[in-house]
Amino acid sequence: MEYEVFDGFRKNSKLHHSNDGFFYRVKKVRLSSTSLSCIKPNCTARGMIYFYFIGLIRNDRFEVIGLHNHDPDMEYLSAVRVKSQILYRCSTELTSLKVIYDEEITQLNHVNTQLTYTSFLRTMERARAEAQPSIPQTLLGYAGNLSDPRYRHLFLTSSNEELYRGYIDGGVEAGEAVVFISPAMMK
Ligand SMILES: [Zn+2]
Repeated sequence: MEYEVFDGFRKNSKLHHSNDGFFYRVKKVRLSSTSLSCIKPNCTARGMIYFYFIGLIRNDRFEVIGLHNHDPDMEYLSAVRVKSQILYRCSTELTSLKVIYDEEITQLNHVNTQLTYTSFLRTMERARAEAQPSIPQTLLGYAGNLSDPRYRHLFLTSSNEELYRGYIDGGVEAGEAVVFISPAMMK
C-alpha cells in the first residue's frame, strides 16, 4: 500500500495515511519498521511500515492491522491545510482573528471539533502573540524591530506603506533618533 506523511494538527506531529481517509501517528520507530496507531483515541487499528532494500533502493511496505471502529474522514487533510493557513494568516496579518477564521473555514464542508472557533481561538491567539517582537529596551532595539522583515506587517500605514525611514545615532550630544517620514511627503 502506498502511504504519505504530512504535518498534523499538533506542532511537530507527523501523520501517515494511505489515501483512504484513515490517519495514523508514529508509535515506535525501529531499525527496519515503524509502528503506527490510529489517531482516533478509542480505535485499536494499527499500521506498520516495513523498510527493506532491493539492491540499493529502499522500499517501504505499509500494512494496516485490525479494523477501524469509525468511518474514514476524507476531509481531514483539508482541515489540516485550512488550520495551517489560518495560523499563517494570524502571524502575518493584523486582520481580526474572527475574520480570518470565518474566511478560511468556508473551505470545509464539516468543521471537526478541534477546529471550531471556540476551541481553536487560543491557538490562533498564541500564533499571533508569538509573531510579535518583544518590547525593545533601547531605541536601537526599536529601530531593529521596525526594519525586521518578520514584523513588517505591524508597522504599515493603512495603505500598506512604510513610515519608518531609519535610525540615527548622533553621539553623546545629539542623541539618538528613529526617523519616520510619511510616504506622501517623500514624493
Ligand atoms: Zn481508526
